[in-house]
Amino acid sequence: TLPRLPVFEAIARHDPESTAVIHSNSGRRFRYGELLGDVCKVRNRLCEAAGKDDIDGERIAFLVENSYDYVVTLLAILAAKSIAVPLSPAFPAPELQYILNHSEALMLLSSAKFTSKAEEVLKTELDFQPVHLQLEKFQGNGVHEKVTLEKSDPGSAGMMLYTSGTTNRPKGVLLPQSVMTAQARSLLQAWEYSPSDHLLHVLPLHHIHGTINAIFTPLFSGSTIEFLFPFNADAVWRRFAAPFLTPDQTPDSDSDSPQPRHRKITFFTAVPTIYSRLLAAHKALPPDMQSAARAAISPANLRLAISGSAALPTPIKRAWADLSGGNVLLERFGMTEVGMALSCGLDVADRVDGSVGWPLPGVEARLVDVDTHQVIEPGQERDADGRERAGEIQLRGPSIFAGYWRSPEATAREFVNAKDGRGPWFKTGDVAVRRPVEGAGRSDRPSQRDWARGDLYFILGRRSADIIKSGGEKVSALEVEREMLALPQVAEVAVLAVPSGKWGQKVGAVVILDREHVPDGKWSPLDMRRALKGRLASYKIPQVLKVVDHIPRNAMGKINKKMLVKEMFIDEF
Ligand code: ATP
Ligand code: MG
Repeated sequence: TLPRLPVFEAIARHDPESTAVIHSNSGRRFRYGELLGDVCKVRNRLCEAAGKDDIDGERIAFLVENSYDYVVTLLAILAAKSIAVPLSPAFPAPELQYILNHSEALMLLSSAKFTSKAEEVLKTELDFQPVHLQLEKFQGNGVHEKVTLEKSDPGSAGMMLYTSGTTNRPKGVLLPQSVMTAQARSLLQAWEYSPSDHLLHVLPLHHIHGTINAIFTPLFSGSTIEFLFPFNADAVWRRFAAPFLTPDQTPDSDSDSPQPRHRKITFFTAVPTIYSRLLAAHKALPPDMQSAARAAISPANLRLAISGSAALPTPIKRAWADLSGGNVLLERFGMTEVGMALSCGLDVADRVDGSVGWPLPGVEARLVDVDTHQVIEPGQERDADGRERAGEIQLRGPSIFAGYWRSPEATAREFVNAKDGRGPWFKTGDVAVRRPVEGAGRSDRPSQRDWARGDLYFILGRRSADIIKSGGEKVSALEVEREMLALPQVAEVAVLAVPSGKWGQKVGAVVILDREHVPDGKWSPLDMRRALKGRLASYKIPQVLKVVDHIPRNAMGKINKKMLVKEMFIDEF
């Protein structure tokens, strides 16, 4: 038996013969009918290994590759009423040590593949010595065990995800299963996941993007999740293309019915850097593969391609639309603490360049002026002089996290109480503006009508790192980045706040040049200023420039700007 969590109820309702998970490399597949039986088995093993019947609220860390086993482990920990702490296999030992200590994990589970990595970490000095348990590999045997769901208190079942650590040490974010479920329900409606969706999964599994959007939510809808691991741009293209190659181009085309792994991909979600790597890799494919890949990502085949976790550069969005014959990437905004908060809509007219759309179903959002703390009500987006008013995004609703682990003060700092008695607002630390956009917000799809309406949100960046205060003006690093990326000379850019005796801060840019357009690799601050003249107000044009070959990013493709600015402009400090 399993507790009657909404996710288990949903899984129990799906066609037991339909495919829940496929391992792309081996073709191994696992059906919905076998999932809950396997979850029971692992749950029982966890309780046994813990040596106690009740592991309610205990943190259980796990190191498992992107696979069916990951899905089973995650659900088994929820079934044990414990808190799942997924670890990244890409983390170096000190990072794993930090999370094990910080989360006070009772157990560390590892798959065979990562057992030695787990042992290595357990040998280091830890404040709490977790029990180590090696998980068996599931084979996809198709056995459908009858599992009954019983009404019982879900206890503290949930996840603890660590933030990306872009601005500081990663924070442990508690997401009870009710919060996970609310996040999933919101996306189920907004993005219309369905049993006919076949999702290609290429993301890390220790962040909300890979876990909630690309595992937990599809499990609710009975979609198929195909793990392609480790990420490799070439392999992704070959997988996209497979169903669109002619029989003599297909390696294993001897069977009559198409292999389930050769079903077309209908749903794909990734971070901007992945799209950028895919675009580059496409150029290097052989010609027949190139055209099959283009067909595979056309809007008629790939129903939805989503980008998030960092601002989507417009050139990437355009290039993807050109390559695919009009498949416009849908951008959304999310955070570990809140799941997905804002999203563009399913209609192409609702995927407006530079915008992250509207608050998702169930999410309540407001903008609060950073200086005056006044709420920017709808209709007050401009001040008396007609200047746009930017504000911090604040959010509330059932999908907001329960708090930072063992940090009541930090948690309290990030919430503001509301006078309307409808619960406190979470301060995201991200700044945005709202703008009306002609033609957007008119979808007549039932799934979009109650939220994809009104003015759209445009992210200006993080309060702490992207809002540059220069001589009394505020400059959005994201806006400057957007304009710079539109220049043919610029391949990648990070815009930073550089300390300045005269201005307080000045705008700095770190640039990777596009060698096709700047073959000699020479681009002076003057060249830059000339190129940006007319595109940006003069106070927004970077005053200092560094040309580099590489900009360091974390696993989600994000830049730690505080670190980068010190590295690049040390002489200005
Ligand atoms: P840390 O909180 O540890 O410094 P982090 O904030 O990067 O790291 P996450 O929770 O993974 O950790 O990322 C959330 C942040 O990512 C948001 O606060 C926002 O700054 C950024 N982000 C997410 N989606 C978008 C988007 N579409 N456009 C711009 N920024 C985005
Ligand atoms: Mg954050």
